[in-house]
Amino acid sequence: MLLCKSCGGVDHYLLKNKWMWQCIVCNFRTSLRSGTILESSKLPIQKWFLAMAFMSFSKKGISTKELQRQLSHKNYEPIWLMMHILRASMGQRDGQKTFSQNL
Ligand SMILES: [Zn+2]
Repeated sequence: MLLCKSCGGVDHYLLKNKWMWQCIVCNFRTSLRSGTILESSKLPIQKWFLAMAFMSFSKKGISTKELQRQLSHKNYEPIWLMMHILRASMGQRDGQKTFSQNL
């Protein structure tokens, strides 16, 4: 997961309009791909945007399989990783909701 380069914090907001992570402790901003699993991800950034949209719009959450189908992505694992990361960041906004509820 993302480590803040300024304070070492692990909790970040996702600034959706800028596609940056912002540290909740010190507000240090990191680009979306920098320092995260996205750096080594082969998923195009557009799929991240789409995944985020699907996850935001579906109230009950979207399954990894369903997201994989929606994105027409042939490999399950990168989609799973992506959802894991997105849920972790979105979970902060949605309170106690955790990714395990939807697995
Ligand atoms: Zn920080």
